[in-house]
Amino acid sequence: MQKQKNMHFSELALDKTILKAIKEIGYDTPTPIQEKTIPLVLENKDVIGSAQTGTGKTAAYALPIIEKLIWNQNVAKKSKKIRALIISPTRELAVQIQDDFKAYGQFTNLRTAVVFGGTSIEPQKDKINKGVDILIATPGRLLDLRKQEIINLSHIQTLVLDEADLMLDMGFIDDVKKIVKVCPRNRQILLFSATMPKKVSQLASEILNNPEKVAISTTSSAAENVNQKLYYVPKPKKMELCLHLLRNTIKGSILIFRRTKFGVDKLETSLTKNGYKVTSLHGDKTQSARQEALNKFKNGDINILIATDVAARGIDINSLDAVINFDLPNIPETYVHRIGRTARAGESGNSYSFCAADEINYVKSIQHLIQHKIELVEDHPYSLDKNTKPIVHKNKEQKSTNTYFGKKKSRKSANSKKNKKRWY
Ligand code: AMP
Repeated sequence: MQKQKNMHFSELALDKTILKAIKEIGYDTPTPIQEKTIPLVLENKDVIGSAQTGTGKTAAYALPIIEKLIWNQNVAKKSKKIRALIISPTRELAVQIQDDFKAYGQFTNLRTAVVFGGTSIEPQKDKINKGVDILIATPGRLLDLRKQEIINLSHIQTLVLDEADLMLDMGFIDDVKKIVKVCPRNRQILLFSATMPKKVSQLASEILNNPEKVAISTTSSAAENVNQKLYYVPKPKKMELCLHLLRNTIKGSILIFRRTKFGVDKLETSLTKNGYKVTSLHGDKTQSARQEALNKFKNGDINILIATDVAARGIDINSLDAVINFDLPNIPETYVHRIGRTARAGESGNSYSFCAADEINYVKSIQHLIQHKIELVEDHPYSLDKNTKPIVHKNKEQKSTNTYFGKKKSRKSANSKKNKKRWY
């Protein structure tokens, strides 16, 4: 992550309890998005932030929200009203956001809760009934709880829409609009999105009031700091190439991207059989299995994590030595976001991309986006004959792209299905 050298958090007019927490967590200086966003949020401006995970965007909104709520943090628990609401498209991100709020607010008396679907609603009701200042929620469960009159949104001062592009991709547009409608008219809205497709800017212009724009482009810088290598390889030989590189070239903590859950499972099985310590993240795993996988990877018990883009989205994984694009993404921005995970904190990272015959067009659009050619490695045992024609067949793997976290994407409107350009 790029940091500004001269500024200190104390210049950002934050309460000393927040500064103490920041110090304890170990942040030194604000990141660019924090420096730009925190004063705007404190001035009650609406903000549209173009930033992805890894830029420090959560603290960019969480710190000033805490600051604004602190003045009446000491009201009796039962009289607490939900004054800040953060909407996240996924459960993982929601949990992570709550963890961040808890850490930043550890020396305050503010109370947070997180609600999301797919788990029992009762404990979530209990938690909310006990009194909460800051609520983090996925859209569907939030609206359910509101319908049941457990949640009252009429005291919301700040509403955050995090990962708005993914939210819309997942078909939550109507839910989001409904949530905005039931919040008070004079609330502040902060919208963050990794990409700014038309539908996100349209939504922003509908719901935001004179927004300030904050754009942190990681696109070029992420790509610049990464030593990128490209391998042309026949599809059936990708596994062998992966083993070859793991044996001889790629060491340390490695994140491997595959396009589908099926692909993730298959690769996990093969690498495990070959004696590697591997874990994986995808939507068919239970919440606790995913959390366990992530913890093992983060604390270094396991050095290889295999994931789909969606499962890895929003998840904070630092200090990666390498990213392997076992499958190339069909959206070039996804490539940049993937490899950007290995070059955090201004350090350099390594990426290894495998390209089969049917992925050659993806390479073209990636190179167009990053404005340079990726270094081609031809000296490897599984080279692809450039004249090979792509094999086109519908297999299990392709079918399984139709699910998200193991469920059919029933929330998506017919329109969005028609027009959609997948981001991940
Ligand atoms: P985010 O973009 O919010 O997912 O944050 C990415 C990572 O950066 C998280 O591990 C944060 O704890 C970390 N982070 C956020 N702000 C700072 C900062 N000012 N200095 C160092 N690390 C930070």
